[in-house]
Amino acid sequence: MPYTHRVTPGSHVKLKDHDAGETAGLDKAAGHARFAELNAELDTLQEEMYAAGRNSVLMILQGMDTSGKDGAIRAVMANLNPQGCRVESFKVPTEHELAHDFLWRVHRVTPELGMFGVFNRSHYEDVLVVRVHDLVPRDVWKQRYEQINAFESLLAANGTIVLKFFLHISRKEQEERLLAREQELGKAWKLSAGDWREREHWDAYQEAYEDALSRCSTDVAPWYVVPANRKWFRNLAITETLVETLRPYRPSWKQALEEMSRARLAELAAYRSQRGG
Ligand code: ADP
Repeated sequence: MPYTHRVTPGSHVKLKDHDAGETAGLDKAAGHARFAELNAELDTLQEEMYAAGRNSVLMILQGMDTSGKDGAIRAVMANLNPQGCRVESFKVPTEHELAHDFLWRVHRVTPELGMFGVFNRSHYEDVLVVRVHDLVPRDVWKQRYEQINAFESLLAANGTIVLKFFLHISRKEQEERLLAREQELGKAWKLSAGDWREREHWDAYQEAYEDALSRCSTDVAPWYVVPANRKWFRNLAITETLVETLRPYRPSWKQALEEMSRARLAELAAYRSQRGG
């Protein structure tokens, strides 16, 4: 059974129906062991994808504050080849960015073939924080779901494998994580009064997430709900979903690599015979 929930296109997501504390019957030790195996396989898959240059990966991470986007990136990417990876974080847009359409700053940094791209927040903020805080009129953000689907389908048609992860934590878990930050000086740098302010809009955010997940989960760019109350399970679930998604591409990447090898060997043989002749 997969550890994440893949949102069926056209279905309506109710986050309350998903247990953020789910661990699929695993304990932490078993989870860590499985994670290590899958992470090693992910390393191999990334190396082959990088060399073959036929596809790229775009992994989008979204979730409420403290849901573990940074931690997930650290754990899942830890063993990958940094040369083939790029992480992009999306903050409050600058004036220059706001003077363009909302996808402009995003499209500029989508991963080229061979690259493993990660978005820490993404264009989904434009139907999340923007919607919750009325930063643009309703008529404007309402159109964005379709625009996002068209954009992601363009990426997919050009070889990008798009996976979108919603890190699902409970309201109580968020409170505990915020309070833990106050209690440890070593963690207090992560604190922000804004996190508590945003927490007051919890229900509006959950509703905005439900709409984004329901309207923008497509066959070529699916959304996955990740039970994220337990950090070790969150990392395992993301890694498993990545590996399961990328594994079927392996034969095509191997074929590309073999073709490249044959072409290089033929080139070398031609060079040698020229020199010898
Ligand atoms: P982190 O991702 O670690 O929380 P920050 O504390 O800098 O990083 O948060 C980034 C902030 O930027 C978030 O509050 C997020 O909602 C905001 N943001 C990102 N994209 C947009 C956007 N398009 N419009 C408005 N705010 C945005």
